Amino acid sequence: MHEQAAAAPIPAVEIRGLRKRYGGKTAVDGLDLTVRRGTLTAVLGPNGAGKTTTIETCEGYRRPDAGTVRVLGLDPVTEAAALRPRIGVMLQSGGVYPGARAMEMLRHTARLHAHPLDVDELADRLGLSSCGRTVYRRLSGGQQQRLALAMAVVGRPELVFLDEPTAGLDPQARRATWDLVRDLRRDGVSIVLTTHHMDEAEQLADDVAIVDAGRVIAQGSPEELCRGGAGNTLRFQGRAGLDLGTLLKALPDDCTAAELTPGSYLIAGPVDPQLLATVTSWCAQSGVMPENLSVERRTLEDVFLDLTGRDLRS
Ligand code: ATP
Repeated sequence: MHEQAAAAPIPAVEIRGLRKRYGGKTAVDGLDLTVRRGTLTAVLGPNGAGKTTTIETCEGYRRPDAGTVRVLGLDPVTEAAALRPRIGVMLQSGGVYPGARAMEMLRHTARLHAHPLDVDELADRLGLSSCGRTVYRRLSGGQQQRLALAMAVVGRPELVFLDEPTAGLDPQARRATWDLVRDLRRDGVSIVLTTHHMDEAEQLADDVAIVDAGRVIAQGSPEELCRGGAGNTLRFQGRAGLDLGTLLKALPDDCTAAELTPGSYLIAGPVDPQLLATVTSWCAQSGVMPENLSVERRTLEDVFLDLTGRDLRS
């Protein structure tokens, strides 16, 4: 499957001007998104931003009111028969027979595919082995979630859609899920993941698309999105009353330097290795040992706040 991915320059997902309304409510409002092959894109946004609607449109479960959606180069509605075997979809409880046993469901799903993953190994990784004989409706929420993930990936899809895969999971299950997602990514699988958690996006994603009110308001790697802006700072402590004028001359124009309290210094600006070197060599020339030197980077939460003036969870 990965030979195909390498040969075809077609993106895993390409969405242009997607619009979707439910009655009088606009859920998606002109959304553009490109997911490159073999990468993990995290779609990050607050409740009701339109993430699930967008993903369900890519999966072929919803028809766009306007705009185009191509998944592995195919139309998810009119070319569903060709597309379905190539993608993995993490279904929530819908579409599952509540009286079926967990491992039976996983084995059944595996049998639908030509080259499935090893079912026992997958169940073991996701901590599902001990509840394999439990019927679906008696599984805990976290177990149902992990089973849904296992069913999405067992067929070795080229592209997987994971809608909030770690919502409500305990830390151990969350880590197991992250490890599995990283392995898929390493194997060349393209992954689209929605999440409310910035740390999840920062840990896993090659690209982050920040969605608000039905549009992508920023897209880039976590580094690109967090770089720049006044949120990046470098702090240190040293002798009180240092002459910051000489430091400012050596720093780029968009930096500021201040002594917040006697002996406590803060440099704000595009903190990069060069800036760090400039500050430490200025300290050396000034005969100052910078104590408690620390760099604070902007988080995706800060980026969202800057763009919208709101908290990601509000
Ligand atoms: P969450 O993070 O809470 O899952 P989301 O970003 O996935 O949110 P969507 O579920 O796509 O957002 O919903 C976008 C908007 O459309 C919300 O205001 C939601 O209430 C509304 N909506 C979603 N599905 C329907 C539906 N079937 N009928 C009516 N309104 C809907």
